Amino acid sequence: MPGRNFLFVPGPTNVPERILRAMDRAMEDHRSSAFPELTVPLFRDLKEVFKTTTGQAFIFPATGTGGWEAALVNTLSPGDRVIAPRYGQFSHLWIDLAQRHGLRVDVLDVEWGEGAPAERIGEILSQDREHEIKGVLIVHNETATGVTSDVGAVRTAMDAARHPALLYVDGVSSIGSIDFRMDEWKVDLAITGSQKGLMLPAGLAIVCASPKALAARESARCPRVFFDFGDMLRANPSGYFPYTPSIPMLYGLRESLAILSEEGLDNIFARHRRLAEGVRAAVRAWGLKLCAKAPKWQSDTVSAILVPEGFNGADVIDVAFRRYNLALGAGLARMAGKLFRIGHLGDLNELMLLGAIAGAEMAMRDVGIPVTVGSGVAAAAEYYRGTAAPLLARGAATQSPDAVQTAGGKTTPRVTVRA
Ligand SMILES: *Cc1c(COP(=O)(O)O)cnc(C)c1O
Repeated sequence: MPGRNFLFVPGPTNVPERILRAMDRAMEDHRSSAFPELTVPLFRDLKEVFKTTTGQAFIFPATGTGGWEAALVNTLSPGDRVIAPRYGQFSHLWIDLAQRHGLRVDVLDVEWGEGAPAERIGEILSQDREHEIKGVLIVHNETATGVTSDVGAVRTAMDAARHPALLYVDGVSSIGSIDFRMDEWKVDLAITGSQKGLMLPAGLAIVCASPKALAARESARCPRVFFDFGDMLRANPSGYFPYTPSIPMLYGLRESLAILSEEGLDNIFARHRRLAEGVRAAVRAWGLKLCAKAPKWQSDTVSAILVPEGFNGADVIDVAFRRYNLALGAGLARMAGKLFRIGHLGDLNELMLLGAIAGAEMAMRDVGIPVTVGSGVAAAAEYYRGTAAPLLARGAATQSPDAVQTAGGKTTPRVTVRA
């Protein structure tokens, strides 16, 4: 098919040209004296993305699933009790992984479409006087349902219960896109993968561990080899790895961290919020509902859109792909067929998203869903117009955001246009 594929699954996300170019290079000796120039700054700069100063970043050649495993096996022992709310396919899979490692998981089932029940977690912890519970596992952004949980509220509940359990947070589809504060929320293990907010291909699992998590390592008896923090801690400070790292991925990560820092985390979060609001305006215009049950749960990185009774979300996805070259996310597990998802994270702007919204409404119409073609696009476009940033200086529009200040070698004032 001519033209670009419109990739709107919530991971892997679009890889910017800058990152593709940075990754396209010859292999080199990962034990050379020059290699640490690449790697040492990565560990340092990753901490900014996690918003931690005391945490320790680990980079594994793996995916988010490997990050889940690394976080658990380095800090827990078989038979340890943990609690984990389950409100979507990703929380489900993490629980399954924990169980297969011999952990005893108290599963708190929550309706899919809601998020972590901070109060219930607090009550369970306050009843655990012997401190038998060793960890609380939270998926910050449940990608299957488009729900973001309030990790700060979970921390508050844990503190109110005066419970020493470690706080484990899956931030795979939030870190680098939605506000995440490892130190402020006292997250002990924060996990992400490369193919979501970091705008890279899949292939890296990144875990940040708090000092408390690193101390828990001493008594943790889960078997671990490939994911052992200890081997990493011996090699990483000097810029090396215990085994061969994925060199293109590390160069890609270098570029990704540069892109994130040029735009600035707060601007990135605001952009994701605004892009998501446009999608939500489109969903309202279609007369459809999100899987997220209340506005406080709505995710700024993925919208899970329920199709009306009698229609199959998988048909929408199939037509969108085969007719319009648009990739939408599927409904997973118990949501299969009931919804489709628009991923809106990473390297994205308004017009890209309007393309996805147009494709989604065309495909919905094609399979017989009674939406008005153009209605979602119109609603989102009006929202984006009404909330647009000041005009870029002439000549700066196709450059990186920082070029605005430096176009022509000096600061160029922005021009404002009103609606
Ligand atoms: C994508 C994702 C994962 C990890 O999946 P991998 O395919 O192993 O990278 C984990 N949790 C969430 C919330 C995700 O969105």
